[in-house]
Amino acid sequence: MMPNFVFYSPKILFGRDIFNEIPTEIKAFGNSVLVVTGKSAMRKAGITDRLETILAEAKITYYLMETVDPEPTIEHIEEILDFLHNQQVDVVLALGGGSVIDVAKVVAGVFGHITKEQITLREFIGHNITIPGLPFIAVPTTAGTGSEVTKNSVIIDKQAKIKRSIFRSPLMIPKVAIVDPCLTISMPPKITAASGMDALTQAIEAYVTRKANALCESLAIQAIEILGKNLQRAVEDGANIEIREKIAYGSLISALAFANSSLGAVHGLAHPIGALFHAPHGVICAILLPHVMEFNKDVVPEKFAKIGAVLHRSEEIIGKTNSELIEMGIDFIKNLLKAVHLPTSLHELGITAENIPRIVKDTGGSSLNNNPRKANPEDLTHILENAL
Ligand code: NAD
Repeated sequence: MMPNFVFYSPKILFGRDIFNEIPTEIKAFGNSVLVVTGKSAMRKAGITDRLETILAEAKITYYLMETVDPEPTIEHIEEILDFLHNQQVDVVLALGGGSVIDVAKVVAGVFGHITKEQITLREFIGHNITIPGLPFIAVPTTAGTGSEVTKNSVIIDKQAKIKRSIFRSPLMIPKVAIVDPCLTISMPPKITAASGMDALTQAIEAYVTRKANALCESLAIQAIEILGKNLQRAVEDGANIEIREKIAYGSLISALAFANSSLGAVHGLAHPIGALFHAPHGVICAILLPHVMEFNKDVVPEKFAKIGAVLHRSEEIIGKTNSELIEMGIDFIKNLLKAVHLPTSLHELGITAENIPRIVKDTGGSSLNNNPRKANPEDLTHILENAL
């Protein structure tokens, strides 16, 4: 008998130029939208202008907040909630990477509580979202975080110097995720590599997590193969829409997998590192991934052998033992990091041995708990030392 599971997902629109469906999706909820985006990348890429044109043509009233920085903070959310105090909108739409989507997701998610209970965001942190907020549409422009299908937002609290999911609720799942691979063409190689490695890490962690279930495993292993085999080409040939499409799809199904199972020790460690050192989340994940795979490999060897197998061509794996496949998988990840020109050590992010105790102290949460092998503080220290 298969174990029971629950699978959450937004309505998903995927494909080239599916961006043009945005007005129709907004109109399902009303006629005014708050668009949340970053400070310059979307404007420079001409995507904000395109959005303004199609919204104006559809006679939708729109307000633009071009305010979100990478590695978003509580202040980013407060600024937008302040704006909404004076303006009524029917829908919130995020246009950007994981940082933008996470900020807009909280804004839409907490809106009902903040307005009904007349409290501030800081007063509400720590409480559960039980009242539906504003309908939320997520339009990702990176291919990596999968935040367009998840129920949480990872935000930095600068006062406490921590980065964590400040809210987590099925009510935060976007109503619609519009995944158009064309929007990722303008991503420079570094961001393509970092966000792509985030997606690959999420897929690997979702495949081996203690919370794995059959549906998520099949999505995760497919994502591992697609992302592993195509990421280098996406970095080298960013204008190639066929490759961008594969990475966008791989990222989407990777996220559906982890959103409905869990992650592991890479993500447990990556959040405190992200709060203490201003490094991109995908880069931190990429550096830690082979070391955590090494730590986990003996607990679920069949799964790690399967990972090694799907990352190689069929002629390369003929006659290989499981142990050989496991090592081939870990080596593949190490080589991929070099091939996409990402840092391969924490040292390159400015992290030293003296920082390890603080990182370990701040590491916890459900990702760590669902790692396939239980990791105590000594284990985490060892993983970080290896990654230095
Ligand atoms: P990001 O959103 O921080 O963006 C990185 C940079 O890329 C920014 O400068 C942005 O302006 C630029 N950019 C985005 N799209 C572009 C495009 N198409 N062309 C040119 N430039 C573009 O990066 P990210 O990796 O998408 O998101 C990282 C954040 O997402 C982290 O804070 C991480 O913790 C979070 N995250 C959240 C979840 C979740 O489920 N909520 C999951 C994973 C990661």
